[in-house]
Amino acid sequence: MGGADSELQTNAEYLEAIKEVVVGGVSSSMRAAAVPQPLVVRRADGCLIRDVEDGEYIDFNMGYGPHIFGYADRDLAEAVADQFTKGHMTGLPHELDAEAGALVAELVPGVEQIKFANSGTEAVTSVLRLARATTGRQLVVTFEGHYHGWSETVLRAGKTTLQVQGTRPTDVVPGAPGMIPEALGHTAQVPWNDPEAVKELFARDGDRIAAVILEPVLANAGVIPPAPGFLQLLRDLTSRSGSMLIFDEVITGFRVARGGAQERYGVEPDLTVLSKVMGGGFPVAAFGGRKAAMRLFASNEAHHAGVYAGNHGSLRAVVTMLTKIRAQRGLYEELEGVGAAAEDTLREVFAAEGRSVHINRVGTLMCVALLRKPLEKSDTLRGLAEAFDFSQHRRFQILAQREGVYFHPNPLEPWFLSTAHTRSVLDKAAGALRRALVVLG
Ligand code: PMP
Repeated sequence: MGGADSELQTNAEYLEAIKEVVVGGVSSSMRAAAVPQPLVVRRADGCLIRDVEDGEYIDFNMGYGPHIFGYADRDLAEAVADQFTKGHMTGLPHELDAEAGALVAELVPGVEQIKFANSGTEAVTSVLRLARATTGRQLVVTFEGHYHGWSETVLRAGKTTLQVQGTRPTDVVPGAPGMIPEALGHTAQVPWNDPEAVKELFARDGDRIAAVILEPVLANAGVIPPAPGFLQLLRDLTSRSGSMLIFDEVITGFRVARGGAQERYGVEPDLTVLSKVMGGGFPVAAFGGRKAAMRLFASNEAHHAGVYAGNHGSLRAVVTMLTKIRAQRGLYEELEGVGAAAEDTLREVFAAEGRSVHINRVGTLMCVALLRKPLEKSDTLRGLAEAFDFSQHRRFQILAQREGVYFHPNPLEPWFLSTAHTRSVLDKAAGALRRALVVLG
C-alpha cells in the first residue's frame, strides 16, 4: 500500500484500504470512534502534518500530547537511531536505566524510585495494584471525566456519557462490552472539584479506600484545573485515612511545569504515573514515588512485568527528552508564552467573527469549544458539557481541516501546543480558522 506506485490517492481511499486489514482503520477504539474521517498521514515535522494527498496541516492535537518540541525533533531522532545501532532490547538491565531513573527522580518532586512500562494503561494498572497491596484495601476513588487508560478497573463510559440524558455523575458505567462489571464495583466515582462529595465519601468509606487517582489538571475533558485548595484537600484526606494519593501525570508530567502538576500546584502525591512528554512519542511510561511507597517492589512482592518494559530504545528516548528539558532553563516560560499567544490569537479570531467560545488553558494545554448557551460553571465538567455545542464544533473542525488546521473533533479533548507553534504559525492558523468560521455561518 502507498508509495509512488500506489493506486490509492485520497485519504478516503487509503482509509478504506486500511480498514480492510486494520479493523476500524486505527488501532485504538477511542480514536476510531472520535475521529471518523481521519487524515491519513505521510509525514510529520514540527507542528505540521502532511497527508497522503500532499496537504499540509497545522496540528493542534500533536499526537495526543508527547511532542513539546514538535514532531521529528532532531535530537530525539538522532539519539534513538543511534540506540538502534547499539541494541535496543536485551531484557537485561542497561546503563540507561540508571540515567533515565535518576533524571525522573531529579525532576519530579514526589519520585525517588520508578519502574518503567510501555503505556499509561499498564503503569496505572500496576500503580493501582501497588496501592491495593500496600493498604490491604480495595476501593479506588476516581473522578468524573478523568481518563486512566482502558484497564479492567478504570475504563468506564466517560466523557461521552455526559451527553446522555439521565446519567448521574456518580454512575459508574463499564466502558466496553466484555468487561467484568464486578471489577468496576471496587471503584467509586465523584465529580471533579467537588470538595463536599469527596469529604462525604471519606467520612463514609475512608477506611476502605486504597487510593484516590486523578489527573491533577483534568486534561482529558475540558482542561479544568484543580479548584484552589482541592489537591491539598485530597492530600489531607488520603493522609489521614491511610490511603494513597496517585497523580496520573501522563499528560501533565513535564508539560505544565518541569516537575509536572505536582510542582505547579505544590502538592506531592504518594505515587505518580508518567508517560507522553517523557518519551517524546515513544511507547514508554513510568510509575514511581518515594522509596517507602515503592517498597513492595523492592521486596518483589508487588507485581509488574512486560518484556518490553524499560527497553533500551525507549529509555534512550527518555534520557534524551529529559536531558533536553533539564538543560533548557527558560523552556517552561517559553511554553507558557506559546500558550498565551495561542489563547490570545484564538480569542481574537472568535471575537472578530462574533462567536461565543470557551477557552480554558493551563500552559500548553487548551480547551477550545463553541458554545450553544452561556457557560454558567466553568470549573466542573458538567458545566462545560451542558454549554458546549458539540455538533457545531464538529462542523467547525471539518471546515478548519479543509483550510489546513487540524484539531480534535471533540471539544472536550485538549489542544496541545509545542515550541514549534511559533508566532507565524499561529498567524497562519488564525487566518485559516477565520475562513472556516465564515463558512460555518
Ligand atoms: N492516563 C492519562 C491521563 C491519559 O491521558 C492516558 C492516555 N491518553 C492514559 C492514562 C492511558 O495511556 P495509554 O494510552 O498510553 O495507555
